[in-house]
Amino acid sequence: MNGHDLKEFMKELGISHVGFSDVEKVVPSNWSRYHYAISLVVQLSNGIIDDIIDEPTDTYFSHYRSVNYHLNEVMLKTTIALQNCGFGAIPIPASQSLHNKSYYGAFPHKTAATLAGLGWIGKSALFIHHQYGPRVRLGTILTDMELPVGTPVTESSCGNCKICVNSCPAMAIQGQNWIQGMERKELYDAHGCSTHMKEHYQHIGRGSVCGICIKTCPVGR
Ligand code: SF4
Ligand code: SF4
Repeated sequence: MNGHDLKEFMKELGISHVGFSDVEKVVPSNWSRYHYAISLVVQLSNGIIDDIIDEPTDTYFSHYRSVNYHLNEVMLKTTIALQNCGFGAIPIPASQSLHNKSYYGAFPHKTAATLAGLGWIGKSALFIHHQYGPRVRLGTILTDMELPVGTPVTESSCGNCKICVNSCPAMAIQGQNWIQGMERKELYDAHGCSTHMKEHYQHIGRGSVCGICIKTCPVGR
């Protein structure tokens, strides 16, 4: 199996875009043998995102869960295929918040996707795919299979846009342009965002989604 075969394999399983990156400098030390990351991008339904006005919809919450489930399933199948070929692989769950590190997963999908050159981090702290904008969900597989890596994106292309800053009901988005290495808290207040969702959208997915900054971003509309 090579990088081309891997991309075709995942596209046939329903992945919209696949990219590869070298994560040697950012991977946790216990996973240091997994130098490469495979980024999986699934485009969300434009119709469902467009229906979000001033709060999430039940359909959006269901879609969000389905896409995460789909990503996890494709990552599992890809991990099995890689291991059958003699490579090591670790699938990082599509949506995960560690018990000892709130609002963070085991490895940042957005870091892998920007290193693969698939897009940048927006003022909203969302990953902004070059074509689909923030209307995506991401997955990541760490592997020791040598892959042809993309050219990293190291800065924002948001420019002077402030649409997400002005549309966030929690006023959680600071308005800074991202550059590589910036901490998320410099872009947005994850706790403020989560608190707003829990207080105002408890009736939809128990306050676990919002989607307004995804809907309003002009990229990928
Ligand atoms: S998800 Fe909603 S509350 Fe959170 S930053 Fe985006 S618009 Fe603001
Ligand atoms: S709405 Fe504008 S500022 Fe916010 S992420 Fe999208 S392009 Fe960037």
